[in-house]
Amino acid sequence: MLKISGLTTHYGSSQALFGVDLEFGSGEVATLLGRNGMGKTTTINSILGIVRPTSGSIVFDGTELAGRPSFRNANLGIGLVPEGRQVFPNLSLWENLVATASNHLEQADPWTVEKVFALFPELADRRGSMANLLSGGEQQMLAIGRALMTNPKLLILDEATEGLAPLIRQKIWTALEEIKRSGLSILVVDKNLKDLLRIADRHFIIERGVVVWQGNSAELREDREALHRYLGL
Ligand code: ATP
Repeated sequence: MLKISGLTTHYGSSQALFGVDLEFGSGEVATLLGRNGMGKTTTINSILGIVRPTSGSIVFDGTELAGRPSFRNANLGIGLVPEGRQVFPNLSLWENLVATASNHLEQADPWTVEKVFALFPELADRRGSMANLLSGGEQQMLAIGRALMTNPKLLILDEATEGLAPLIRQKIWTALEEIKRSGLSILVVDKNLKDLLRIADRHFIIERGVVVWQGNSAELREDREALHRYLGL
């Protein structure tokens, strides 16, 4: 589904990624872990073409993305739930969902507003509310719903549970498990490793712009040294 090889990215003269390698398959959930400032968001922004990689390769579903402008990548089927939610504040919840609705890839059984409401029933009751009046948890669920409405093959979540109460976080992880069952591939950047160990198939730890550890949940759970050294756990 996604294969990144030797990815380097700069911000001006300052290098942020030093050769990131990462690969996971269709229908899998992968995590990108690491302390603050290690290059997680830069990796995601490089995949999406928001920042232009200096060198290396990013192959998504058979297409080379490195060097393509972001608007061309969007139609390939990558849905982003960005850091900080970013819903349209002055549109209603329902309008936010409809605004992103598309099915460029003509997927069978596409996501609809009703399916998003079935995934997050609390959103159904607030469908007429302006997005800026929703709680942080509701806004995050809406941000995930908006990404699903683009009917992606790969869903990327950047710090999706940041600052949310534990109960809301659980709802989001439960929804993610349901999304996974529907066959979507998912890449998650998050700090809540405990839940991700249950949900994810594969983990990648990034340290100063390089992937320094990769493995499955059982291997990560057992590797106390890596947990301590790279994640401070
Ligand atoms: P966080 O968890 O804090 O978001 P991160 O792992 O996502 O961290 P990045 O945001 O990718 O890390 O940052 C990687 C490096 O690139 C850091 O050294 C950061 O200071 C630098 N960086 C990020 N964005 C920019 C930018 N727009 N201009 C210059 N340098 C940047």
